[in-house]
Amino acid sequence: MRSNLDLIAHLFDAGYADARIAEAMRKVDRAQFVPASLTPNAYIDSPLPIGHGQTISAPGVVALMSKLLDVKAGMTVLEIGSGSGYQAAILAELVGKRGKIITIERIEWLSAAAKSNCERAGYKNIEFIHGDGSKGYAKNAPYSRIIVTAAAREVPKALTAQLAEGGKLVIPVGQPYRQDLLVIDKLAGGVLKTERSIPVVFVPLIEGY
Ligand code: SAH
Repeated sequence: MRSNLDLIAHLFDAGYADARIAEAMRKVDRAQFVPASLTPNAYIDSPLPIGHGQTISAPGVVALMSKLLDVKAGMTVLEIGSGSGYQAAILAELVGKRGKIITIERIEWLSAAAKSNCERAGYKNIEFIHGDGSKGYAKNAPYSRIIVTAAAREVPKALTAQLAEGGKLVIPVGQPYRQDLLVIDKLAGGVLKTERSIPVVFVPLIEGY
């Protein structure tokens, strides 16, 4: 794949992205979110290292998670694991100017890098928080959408607690090197309904450090 457009066309053809996700992803050039030395690999559907032992997820996984999250214009979305800021930028496209993304990252250097990547790409509706996202972010709760981009052993209770009724949580849960991508809906009365999507591999969600 030689360009961002080629990459997104591939994600659409492969079924990871639907038309709306593809439109958002076309506006976010992945090359702006990877280290300069890896720019030649930016348009390959593969995770890439971003420093501090962390990775930017494969674009196919980013597309699928964005699709499963079913984000609507104007929503406030909580993301755990800012990493490069790539997923946050795509979510910012999907919620539009009236919506907002709050993204939490435990590694201060990455939080700052994600902020500068997103600002350079022109996004003003993203708030960057340095801290432990496994506790959620009570200040703006409840959230209609929460996305976790690091692998949890179990679904953190704080996140389901901070999910609004009618809300959706997308999170990889399982062992190191092998998780299931879960889609959890909070129904009326607070009942949780869990559906399993595909197997995935994410870096770990570090809790209580
Ligand atoms: N969404 C990112 C990919 C994130 S990789 C992107 O688009 O590039 C997962 C990130 O989760 C890593 O940067 C890691 O440092 C972070 N992380 C792990 N545990 C965390 C925690 N408890 N709170 C916040 N961030 C965490």
